[in-house]
Amino acid sequence: MFKLPPLKYELDALEPYISKKTMEFHYLKHHQGYINKLNELIEKTEYENMSLTDIIRKTAGKPELSAIFNNAAQTFNHTFFWNSMCPQGGGKPHTNLMTDIKNSFGSYDNFKQEFKQAAFSQFGSGWAWLIKKDEHTLAIMKTSNADTPIAHDLEPILTLDVWEHAYYLDYQNKRADFIDAYLEHLICWKE
Ligand code: MN
Repeated sequence: MFKLPPLKYELDALEPYISKKTMEFHYLKHHQGYINKLNELIEKTEYENMSLTDIIRKTAGKPELSAIFNNAAQTFNHTFFWNSMCPQGGGKPHTNLMTDIKNSFGSYDNFKQEFKQAAFSQFGSGWAWLIKKDEHTLAIMKTSNADTPIAHDLEPILTLDVWEHAYYLDYQNKRADFIDAYLEHLICWKE
């Protein structure tokens, strides 16, 4: 049985960039909904005691298992998204990651431009990611619907949810403003 993982901050801690109301819907209803559905789908199956990432890898690309894949991937992606943000976040990393970003994208500004472009151009629902290609090489990736780097054996570093439910209450149709708020005020670089 999977459970909704606790947030590392309060529901209103990301205001004014993400409202408490959005968090109540997005975390307590949408994320919880994917987890409930996943638990229902895997009960008494071979997936019941597997880790979330194993379920994702074993069901990826199999149309007959798409319901399990979608709910497992969305469960993973949302937890990863909450952990990609923190109150008083935003700005550049002050770590070795900055060196990797410069080596991979030329500059931090180029990284931001590429990330914005990926997040903005994702048609319909999906996700924008910063991933590790190898030890010191990073790349930007966008995925559709529930798809996730885990299904492609890639290691994610950060993600942004660009499903409309992630920003519609706070930004209506202005996805670009939501992407800017994420990069400037919410992104949480890990040491
Ligand atoms: Mn979402």
